[in-house]
Amino acid sequence: MDGSGPPETRSTCPYCGVGCGVLLRADGRGGLSVRGDPDHPANFGRLCSKGSALGETVGLDGRLLTPMIDGQTAGWNEALGHVADRFRETIATHGPDSVAFYVSGQLLTEDYYVANKLMKGFIGSANIDTNSRLCMASTVAGHKRAFGTDTVPGTYEDIDEADLVVLVGSNLAWCHPVLFQRLLAARKARGTKVVVIDPRRTASCDAADMHLALRTGSDVALFNRLLAAIRDCGAVDPEFAAYVDGAGEAFAAARDEDGAATGLSEAQIRAFCDLWLGTERVVTVFSQGVNQSTSGTDKVNAILNCHLATGRIGRAGMGPLSVTGQPNAMGGREVGGLANMLACHLDIGNVGHRAAVQEFWRAPTMADRPGLKAVEMFRAVADGRIKALWVIHTNPAVSMPDADAVRDAIAACPFTVVSDVTAATDTARLARVLLPAAAWAEKDGTVTNSDRTISRQRAVLPAPGAARPDWAILAGVGRRMGWSAAFDHQSPAEIFREYAALSGVAGGFGRDFDISALASLDAAAYDALEPVRWPVTARQRGGRFFADGAFFHPGGKARMLPVRWQPPAARTGPRYPFRLNTGRIRDQWHTMTRTGLSPRLSSHLAEPFLDIHPADAAPLNIAASDLVLVESPTGRCILRARITDTVRPGEVFAPMHWTGETAPSARIGALVAGATDPVSGQPESKAGVVSVRRF
Ligand code: SF4
Repeated sequence: MDGSGPPETRSTCPYCGVGCGVLLRADGRGGLSVRGDPDHPANFGRLCSKGSALGETVGLDGRLLTPMIDGQTAGWNEALGHVADRFRETIATHGPDSVAFYVSGQLLTEDYYVANKLMKGFIGSANIDTNSRLCMASTVAGHKRAFGTDTVPGTYEDIDEADLVVLVGSNLAWCHPVLFQRLLAARKARGTKVVVIDPRRTASCDAADMHLALRTGSDVALFNRLLAAIRDCGAVDPEFAAYVDGAGEAFAAARDEDGAATGLSEAQIRAFCDLWLGTERVVTVFSQGVNQSTSGTDKVNAILNCHLATGRIGRAGMGPLSVTGQPNAMGGREVGGLANMLACHLDIGNVGHRAAVQEFWRAPTMADRPGLKAVEMFRAVADGRIKALWVIHTNPAVSMPDADAVRDAIAACPFTVVSDVTAATDTARLARVLLPAAAWAEKDGTVTNSDRTISRQRAVLPAPGAARPDWAILAGVGRRMGWSAAFDHQSPAEIFREYAALSGVAGGFGRDFDISALASLDAAAYDALEPVRWPVTARQRGGRFFADGAFFHPGGKARMLPVRWQPPAARTGPRYPFRLNTGRIRDQWHTMTRTGLSPRLSSHLAEPFLDIHPADAAPLNIAASDLVLVESPTGRCILRARITDTVRPGEVFAPMHWTGETAPSARIGALVAGATDPVSGQPESKAGVVSVRRF
């Protein structure tokens, strides 16, 4: 505490998956001061530009303050009753799979839990998916294939203790800045080497000893070359290999890879392999550049294969580390917020798991098969299979691939509900019912960051107008649909206790996610909960997984997967000669509904742009700052050209943040086709094809 004014409240930053702790103090005029929490294990007081500007984003401009039905103000009772009636009628007429929830990694764990329980246990469909599908679904699938569960093996401390950190498809400097600051500190303290594997020369390359600007989508080819080198030079860990199945097939697939797909020279590939093989303490950090691909799951497994083969997993300073985009993408994975999962890492396809969850919830109708993943879900809205849709804290009319088609599908859906903080997002404008949700600084609950640390988020401002927490809105609809006892929660603490108790059931099935030791927290203990890394059981608290060589597949072994490089789904050609990469910029978040409120953040990069290589710009007569028309098979944008050699020739880059409201011509989602990874369902947002010409 800094000693002046009222006491500060400990909470968490609502942006990226680093999950930094913040200390908040309300100024009494609706504003907020923010500083880093020196005692939080993710950030130890550090904040990035977005986190430190949080106080500038809590004003009421653009807030949704009352429920609305067909453009008219309504009371809560009327609005919740209307939503419940329409969902009940739709289900009665067309069956449970005719309705869907599309939710968000911005939800707190308690919100996510109630949404998942309502859809999977009571409505009886698994049509609940999340915008985290666009973020890290390939990692979930890769983890499950390799480990048997969606387990993040390591911790942030591994970055502090590594001698080599490999960033794959991750601009950590801009997208997870505080983790990058930890890496820089480790580099200073112990000389940690850094390799960046990314088609673009990003800000993260400023700290890199080696930058491999590989061809977009060729990561599997590179890591297969590394795996082949691991075997050829005898670096396979004989002890660990006893705990791994499938090594022979994986090595055989790797042996066939010649690396040409990467576009890198033999000398570059050799130098990378030598550095990796010559350094025992290696952490591979990977993110959306790996996940957002039609071969995203294979990319994840190509990375995991190398760590499994060498035993560089579950030990200090070693292991693969997936970093998530959103503050609670991990919590969403834990509660089963994805359409193909049950709560607490239980499997929807497992009869025993389903029965246990059904019994625990006393649920009338359990979903018995996976629901529609995000891209499929909006296609089902478009073709009329989904007739009632509830969108919670996300803006799919902008952020989904093929965004124009998604926008049109939502507009044509017979009944759409949007719960959100902001009154007029591109999606909210299309909804029949709007429900005002409490914002980040106004609600209580928990989030889980990328290294499995559960932290409390605490309310420090009153919810304005009629705004309510999401769990209360969802439970209100659940009660009105006839399930009063199951949705009579009175507080987030009560929901958390129920969830923690369910995790004990999962622990009985030998699952990794078990926080049952927290199931008895009373309200005061929940309020005082310190950041804690799961698992949290009577026998175990936090730590690394897999140090003992025990995995979660039947038989207890891990699996190496034979994976082979596949090109991106869309091919460049005369009509669309450029490969389109998309991503974040340093100071904006998603569709800018919050960061766009901060003048300081908006001044960093003030307008949407397209990065294009000088060798590509010259023949098209494109000069710096020219407006360019960018067209893909699904849409078009008009962007400001930046001529730069940070992108490869033949590849262009555009940020994803601007919306129809802020820049009508810059909805990048409209350019991205909806091709998805066949295992994870994650869309390929980083390898589209476009044409570019002066506008
Ligand atoms: Fe927030 Fe991420 Fe920045 Fe930390 S690194 S302050 S969690 S945006």
